[in-house]
Amino acid sequence: MCNVFSLKEIFSSVGMRIAIKKVYEILNEKRLVFMTIQLKEELKTLDQKHFLHPTTSIEQQQTQGPAAIFIEGNGIYLKDIEGNIYIDGMSSLWNVNIGHGRKEIAEVAKEQISTLAFSSCFASFSNEPAIRLATKIASLTPGDLNTVFFTSGGSESNDTAIKLARHYWLLKGQPERQKIISRTHSYHGVAMGATSATGLQAFRDFTNSHAPDFHYVYSESVRNLRETIEALGPETVAAFISEPVQGAGGVNIPQKDYFKEVRKICDEYGILFIADEVITGFGRTGKFFGMEHYGVVPDMMSFAKGVSSGYVQLGGVAISETIHQDLCELSKGTLMHGYTYSGHALACQVGLKNIEILEQENLVENAANMGDAMLEGFRALQEKYSFIGRVRTLGLLGAIELVKSRETGELFETALSPIFVQETMKRGLILRTVTYDQDTVVFSPPLILSRVELDEMLRILDETFEHIRKTIVEKNI
Ligand code: PMP
Repeated sequence: MCNVFSLKEIFSSVGMRIAIKKVYEILNEKRLVFMTIQLKEELKTLDQKHFLHPTTSIEQQQTQGPAAIFIEGNGIYLKDIEGNIYIDGMSSLWNVNIGHGRKEIAEVAKEQISTLAFSSCFASFSNEPAIRLATKIASLTPGDLNTVFFTSGGSESNDTAIKLARHYWLLKGQPERQKIISRTHSYHGVAMGATSATGLQAFRDFTNSHAPDFHYVYSESVRNLRETIEALGPETVAAFISEPVQGAGGVNIPQKDYFKEVRKICDEYGILFIADEVITGFGRTGKFFGMEHYGVVPDMMSFAKGVSSGYVQLGGVAISETIHQDLCELSKGTLMHGYTYSGHALACQVGLKNIEILEQENLVENAANMGDAMLEGFRALQEKYSFIGRVRTLGLLGAIELVKSRETGELFETALSPIFVQETMKRGLILRTVTYDQDTVVFSPPLILSRVELDEMLRILDETFEHIRKTIVEKNI
């Protein structure tokens, strides 16, 4: 007798229920994929029409749309709208030192916003987070850098340092000291003063009208610094500004004695020394501040990025007690420099929590240890691939140079590093390149990086180098 099931019986059978559930799941997944594609297309079109991106090829954005639209961050990882997960090998813009998605920061921010998000710090108004953060930073900075002016980022910090230096000389009765000297390959930001101090020519060529009184010395030449000061007239030089390790210029780590020599020359000619610690500050190099590697105390130190790990916009300048004392004695009337957000209560409270995390989790020490391990990893890759030139790290700031010939340092006709980082991105690792006079891949992973995560980074690098060797280098493209 043939067995005829009623519909009710069919749908109530366990096997059938599972099958139907599966069909629903697949349909749902397809619907989600479809919705994601639709959303991505919509955002791409809106991005192209309405969002003028910072430091971006407009041509590339207009033809291809955003390279990724991120929706989530967790630890060293970022997730894009399509669900792809990447290691954020640059801490985004050298800044997310404590990693993404920290709930402790979210809680502190929520609390501060509900209590006091913002109030003015002009005309000597104040707030507790700003006072506490200034005090905390004073306790961390080397030497007598004990007073802090707050900004919202690195460019504002460097403009502030430059203006404070010039103002200082006005107060000291040396108004002719206006000139600022910086180094080739340096990057100090994009505000008018910061752009003018930037030694990477391409940033200055963005416009053809430049601020006066900025001068550049060959990157690591102490002799050139002295000659330049002599040629300009020492009595006309207000300050020398330098990153402890140049970031955007290629992670250039100076010789051990370089800054000692710089300090000596500055002292000899009475010139202020400004350290731009925007990248190197707050643990990046395995010490709290980059200058600590060189045993030198600058007169001013600009900072940003790692002070809040990018959770809010924050920066500042720490000035020496000597400068502060002079300001206190000589300044009459109002200090005519201040940003609306100088001493922003929310930003400062987040900064405090960020520093607490750096300290409690020993992230500065971790940066030093992982930086050493990263260098070992780079050296192993260097042994394996002949087109890797010099490699270097200082803490979790690193670089791998790509060269056609190690012996002569000759570069490939077409830079390899941009192709390389596209390929690492396909494999789940975001990196960045420097191609001004070089062909370099740079690294700046979050300071929370674990050994397992570092190994995963190195594995992706190895796989990508192998791919580049086979598809480009061996084919002599
Ligand atoms: N100085 C240095 C050393 C930097 O690396 C940067 C930013 N990459 C800046 C200043 C400028 O900072 P911001 O982009 O926050 O203005």
